Amino acid sequence: MIKPDAMANGHSGGILDQIIKAGFHIRALKLTKLSAEKAGEFYAVHNQRPFYGELVEFMSSGPIIAAILEKSNAVEDFRKLIGATNPAQAEEGTIRKRFAESIGRNAIHGSDSDENAKIEGDFFFSGLERF
Ligand code: GDP
Repeated sequence: MIKPDAMANGHSGGILDQIIKAGFHIRALKLTKLSAEKAGEFYAVHNQRPFYGELVEFMSSGPIIAAILEKSNAVEDFRKLIGATNPAQAEEGTIRKRFAESIGRNAIHGSDSDENAKIEGDFFFSGLERF
């Protein structure tokens, strides 16, 4: 998911370009906007964390791009491509280092397991929207 900060800052094209050049195949893609309720559902695992309210408000503040990406070893390779949660700690050349503003407004989300990738793909896309 390309987050609202990166969308507002005009980075969606640069981010998709970097993802494709890194060997990921786009199987589904959508421009959409999360309601506060849907953002809260997506990040429910964090609902006891002190930043949850801020996270939900930010993630529902503007449009996002959701995608299903395919590649061998996709979850691990994508986490490497996007870099550390806090862009100040992200490696040079990673998406968060290049495009993120802060730990909260950090440009992009990537699933942290194959199981969550399936859940998150199903959250955004019907069977008719994936190829
Ligand atoms: P990720 O898997 O690298 O996205 O990181 P996490 O699963 O730990 O956190 C989910 C998201 O919550 C992050 O991508 C941030 O957008 C947000 N987040 C994490 N830590 C903080 C924090 O300390 N402050 C704020 N405002 N947001 C945070």
